[in-house]
Amino acid sequence: MAILRCTGCAAEAPASSPGFECACGAPYDVEHAFRLVGRETFDARGLHSPAPHDSGVWRFLELVYPRFPSEAVISLREGNTPLHASAALSEFVGIEQVKLKHEGLNPTGSFADRGMTVAVSRARANGARHLVCASAGAAAASLGAYAARAGLPCTVLAPAAAHAPAKLAQARACGARVVLVRADCERVRALARDLAHAEQLDLLDACNPFRIEGQKSVLFELLVQLAWRAPDWIALPLANYGNCSAFAKALREARYLGLIERLPRLLAAGSLPDPASHGARRALCAIEETRGQALAITSEQAFEAKRAIDRAGLGCDLASAAGLAGAREFARRGGIGPEESVVVVLDSHALGAHAASDALGDSVEADLGALRAARTG
Ligand SMILES: [Zn+2]
Repeated sequence: MAILRCTGCAAEAPASSPGFECACGAPYDVEHAFRLVGRETFDARGLHSPAPHDSGVWRFLELVYPRFPSEAVISLREGNTPLHASAALSEFVGIEQVKLKHEGLNPTGSFADRGMTVAVSRARANGARHLVCASAGAAAASLGAYAARAGLPCTVLAPAAAHAPAKLAQARACGARVVLVRADCERVRALARDLAHAEQLDLLDACNPFRIEGQKSVLFELLVQLAWRAPDWIALPLANYGNCSAFAKALREARYLGLIERLPRLLAAGSLPDPASHGARRALCAIEETRGQALAITSEQAFEAKRAIDRAGLGCDLASAAGLAGAREFARRGGIGPEESVVVVLDSHALGAHAASDALGDSVEADLGALRAARTG
């Protein structure tokens, strides 16, 4: 059905393997034996289809988890996210054709749902009893919801000093046990791995390669929305290593299966990562594989892009805005031609990230004079 293949030494492991790291230290990738399936199969499915093909992930079952039994799928009808054209944001970038794929419109407000539906379905089908994940934000909220949907208990470990409180509250509301740990992200991730190993819990971290399989569906769905005419560029936040790897894998497989003729290029923007980490190295290789570009942007540029997205009525969290900021900067440098098309992927909904600083200010008297003064003030 599927095997795990080491991205370092190419060693093989069974798909049911509980660990996601090879003995050599490199992470595994999922390798499928694909059946040839044509575009028309995916075009014919949609929200009207019987479950699970009404999900924007499982619509592409043959591409994300071939031969996985439909009745074992744990779904919240994720995906099916809109692709928005925006004249205002095209003007902001300085080219004619900018579209935004808004992954914040997923059930728990982020792209993470696309990976979680696949990884949680697989875990439960393999007899998982308890799920665990290290996350400071989106993945925590997502795991909480999918574990609840699967009827499984789950534990989320988050760094005490750096997490998104609204996202963790979301996870807790779904019944997740949320534990704040006084350590940095990397240490918390290592602890989650140790806990999973010691107590035989199923690890749903970013290192779980079945999450990558689900995240590939962002690209497949985008291709359907564009009638399989790939854009020239796909811009995304560089900090989302998982999506960089998932998008490149999706494109490679789509081309292998004859679903697309040419590869769009990935433009990943943000702070340039420390290439010592496996995740970063994989992401950079993935970008290179598409002849793409990793681009450094400043936090001012990211803020500016977020403001433009909010003002266009679409809204997203700050981290999501990196893709648009990158497209603008790269177009300014001549890396993207004015006649080229760009799709910007937004990772998360604005609601998960609004801070107290976005408060609305003072209230006014219920008086027409006061009201008119406040409107212009
Ligand atoms: Zn290896």
